[in-house]
Amino acid sequence: MQLPVYLDYAASTPVDPAVLALMTDCLARPELAGNPAALGHAAGRVAQALVEKARAQVAALINARPDELVFTSGATESDNLAIIGVAQFREARGRHLVTALTEHKAVIESCRHLAARGWRITWLRPDADGLVAPAAVEAALEPDTVLVSLMQVNNETGVIQDIAAIGAICRRHAVLLHVDAAQGAGREPIDVRAQQIDLLSLSAHKLYGPKGVGALFIDQAHVRRVAPLLFGGGQERGLRPGTLATHQIAGMGEAFSLAAQRLPVEVAHTRALRDRLWTGLQQMPGVLLNGHVQQRSGHILNVSIEGVEGESLFYSLGELCVASGSACTSLANEASPVLRALGRSAALAQASIRFSFGRTTTAAEVDFALERVAQAVRKLRSFSPLRVAGG
Ligand SMILES: *Cc1c(COP(=O)(O)O)cnc(C)c1O
Repeated sequence: MQLPVYLDYAASTPVDPAVLALMTDCLARPELAGNPAALGHAAGRVAQALVEKARAQVAALINARPDELVFTSGATESDNLAIIGVAQFREARGRHLVTALTEHKAVIESCRHLAARGWRITWLRPDADGLVAPAAVEAALEPDTVLVSLMQVNNETGVIQDIAAIGAICRRHAVLLHVDAAQGAGREPIDVRAQQIDLLSLSAHKLYGPKGVGALFIDQAHVRRVAPLLFGGGQERGLRPGTLATHQIAGMGEAFSLAAQRLPVEVAHTRALRDRLWTGLQQMPGVLLNGHVQQRSGHILNVSIEGVEGESLFYSLGELCVASGSACTSLANEASPVLRALGRSAALAQASIRFSFGRTTTAAEVDFALERVAQAVRKLRSFSPLRVAGG
């Protein structure tokens, strides 16, 4: 077993070997190195064909049409373009948006950016299990609401929102629905038609593709257009100008195509590992599951541990690559706002570990993690003044 054991697939995944091979070809072979917009010669047309093949591969995973996808630098940019782009384009219709406290920073900060410029934002608080009730979304709609932005799979807890129910409500009220599916795509089924999703953000590196590339799905019939954030050469219908990064995009396409083929196997694999770890962790007293027991994705297990101090716990797990709360918030060393929104105390939010599993995770790695966590918790509790309710 290679140390440290990597259990942070929700933060990023290694590039699949088939993806790497394709990307290397795109970068190294002169006949593939044309600018996808230089259609006057063969190399440009080959590059364009690579981009268009990838567009179709990405579209297939979410049941969209290829021409409804705009390539971006990742889900962060897609979230920004969706939220700010819709808000600006529809400003005359209204300046109210609905989102949740448990969204990714890319959504939260895009909404804050708008709030600072006069838009009104309703921040929904989920139930203690992390679910946003569709009825709460409906109750939050106002006559001037233009957009609801809610994620499919939460990146910290793995909780899956009922997007189909929320989509039906938004459609009925003629409000657009944006879904951040960076964590969910390829791990849980997504169908933009069946779930009535108008805009959807995707990232390649959460799904065995390269970092630095993503896409935004924009439903042609319901959205038509969003205001661009960048200006330049008119690529991607002017919504995202700039020379398309053929190698990144081709890599994303290949990764998404592989993900579509492997989805059922992947789901079964990660679920089995997650359940194995959860069963093991429950042998210890004072281990609390964060997020809904059933309605959650197989690749994430998030627990809070009573009777230990968060930072000490994290530093005693040096042989494991795991996240404490989330990769983004751990930089700021604050208690995870997502877990706080679920009603966890600051201490319990801090004493949380997010384990996330992927294609190459083995049962032996999970058992190793379990042993290391149990060891660390025993040791920390032996000299901790904090009490454990269960034992
Ligand atoms: C990782 C992630 C993002 C950001 O994606 P990037 O491609 O890294 O910008 C946004 N939303 C969620 C839910 C994520 O998990």
